[in-house]
Amino acid sequence: MMKQLIVATGNSHKVEEFESLLAGCGFELCSASICGGMPLVVEDGVSFAANAAIKARALRGLAPADAWIVADDSGLEVYALGGAPGIYSARYAGELASDSENVDKLLKALQGVPAGNRGGRFRCALCLIDSDGNEHCFEGACEGHIAEVPSGSSGFGYDPVFVPVGYQKSFAELGDALKACLSHRARAAHSLREFCRPPTRP
Ligand code: IMP
Repeated sequence: MMKQLIVATGNSHKVEEFESLLAGCGFELCSASICGGMPLVVEDGVSFAANAAIKARALRGLAPADAWIVADDSGLEVYALGGAPGIYSARYAGELASDSENVDKLLKALQGVPAGNRGGRFRCALCLIDSDGNEHCFEGACEGHIAEVPSGSSGFGYDPVFVPVGYQKSFAELGDALKACLSHRARAAHSLREFCRPPTRP
């Protein structure tokens, strides 16, 4: 029988995303609605990993005892800005800021910064809590640089200004298929899949 893996988010799109990232791992992906919904949490951790753990732990007490739980946290770190916006990526331009307001603020902060000094990376942390309550953290990063102007229309967040290493176009121009191989989230999910893979028999 498949193990239930509950995605600790109120966002149904994220459940679908995990379904494809973790396909073949032997989990039945479920949304937090099977535990009465995702409780409100204060994401006051000092790292992506700490915030992912806060979200996963918030569901532990509400979930069926034999269920597993997964949560993620991610964001963009820009080296010339000392790692900002980092864990504040979603609310860089204010608590209710839109993606384009966040991007505008980032481009203003980098105004006059030359091409060679606009490096940064997306990071993602996944926290998995198994049915015994053990926590496992998996991280992934995707290096690149911040373009001078936004371009492209796919994806979300900072995708229109993030150009991954080895490419001349933004994530929003390169599209979801390439992002599914290269992204910080794909890389963190790869480590989680390796962890969950049944041991091969000699
Ligand atoms: P969350 O971890 O899904 O809450 O994402 C935090 C914030 O980081 C998002 O609101 C985006 O601004 C940014 N972010 C995380 N992952 C990506 C990505 O793959 N592309 C663009 N922006 C991202």
